[in-house]
Amino acid sequence: KKRIAVMTSGGDAPGMSGAVRAVVRQTIASGCDAFAVYEGYEGLVQGGDMIKQMYWEDVRGWLSEGGTLIGTARCMAFKERPGRLQAAKNMIAKGIDALVICGGDGSLTGADKFRGEWPSLVQELVEKKMCTAEEVEPFKHLNVVGLVGSIDNDMSSTDATIGCYSSLQRICQAVDFIDATAFSHQRAFVIEVMGRHCGWLALMAGVSCGADFVFLPENPPSTDWEKDMCDIVKKHRTLGKRKTIVIVAEGAHDRDLNPIKPSKVKDLLSNEVGLDTRVTTLGHVQRGGTACAYDRMLATLQGVEAVKAVLEATPETPSPVICIVENKIVRKSLLDAVALTHKVADAIESKDFGTAMKLRDAEFTE
Ligand code: ATP
Repeated sequence: KKRIAVMTSGGDAPGMSGAVRAVVRQTIASGCDAFAVYEGYEGLVQGGDMIKQMYWEDVRGWLSEGGTLIGTARCMAFKERPGRLQAAKNMIAKGIDALVICGGDGSLTGADKFRGEWPSLVQELVEKKMCTAEEVEPFKHLNVVGLVGSIDNDMSSTDATIGCYSSLQRICQAVDFIDATAFSHQRAFVIEVMGRHCGWLALMAGVSCGADFVFLPENPPSTDWEKDMCDIVKKHRTLGKRKTIVIVAEGAHDRDLNPIKPSKVKDLLSNEVGLDTRVTTLGHVQRGGTACAYDRMLATLQGVEAVKAVLEATPETPSPVICIVENKIVRKSLLDAVALTHKVADAIESKDFGTAMKLRDAEFTE
């Protein structure tokens, strides 16, 4: 009987609790024992009560919840081998030999590293007399499956990450609220949304809210962007628009990688276009609240698939990450997905925006 643990790690995202619910219930429905690791890798390193067996009713009502009800944390100790050694000991103590992690690329990288090191960690546990040879005997291999939880939709190889549509929905609601007051006073608003290397939230919010101008990390504006933006906004005003909405991704910058700050955009709209302009940083409002229908569906289907992947895995199967591609739930190589994600960030950092855009496009046309 397999004992499968589920964990959330990295930044929280709406739908993570739904993913935990799906993994717990599919595990139980498959005749296995389910466990939850609390507070991300911190719980794995601490062990004890931080790793709890979960029953069907423990996750009742979790589907719609925002954030993650089993907590998440950044854990420095797990980045070092002694932390991972302790984590391996704690898992063996609970009899756990499979781990489903819902998190971002950092969390999934850590999980695959843990899996790769597992045989040597087990050997070290015996050598250091932290476990006996008999205790480790059934734990020759660790199964790891990734689920991508992130509001930014910043993981390559999947069309959507768990949480991104809830966040987009929240941004749209917020922009709708701002629209009303902007219209009334004929004001301009510069709205900052999350997304460091990934402008998906900014771009989709721009499309969904009919913004006048959008700043994205992957596709910085022209070198003469100040004039271009002001001209576009002026043109929209002459066409009768009473309000102006400019959306700036948190990681937006110009072609030389100088950050484009909302305050700078505000000054331009105030001084060059003559608009009464305000800045609104949406901040953590974008993370909060209940999961939207899409994220509940995605979390559930992917959680079920993750357990199936655990049960079908052989020691040779590379760690999979559960993705959604053209509306189909699919398994892909976790390491390939992480590598592709890093390629986009690297392309941006080396100012190769053509490649960054091509890689993003490829995700949708692959
Ligand atoms: P987000 O996209 O929300 O930032 P993330 O999963 O990328 O999520 P990170 O802070 O990068 O967030 O990683 C979360 C945790 O995963 C870290 O605190 C650490 O415990 C573990 N982790 C990340 N990278 C590694 C790694 N290379 N090796 C071991 N553990 C890692």
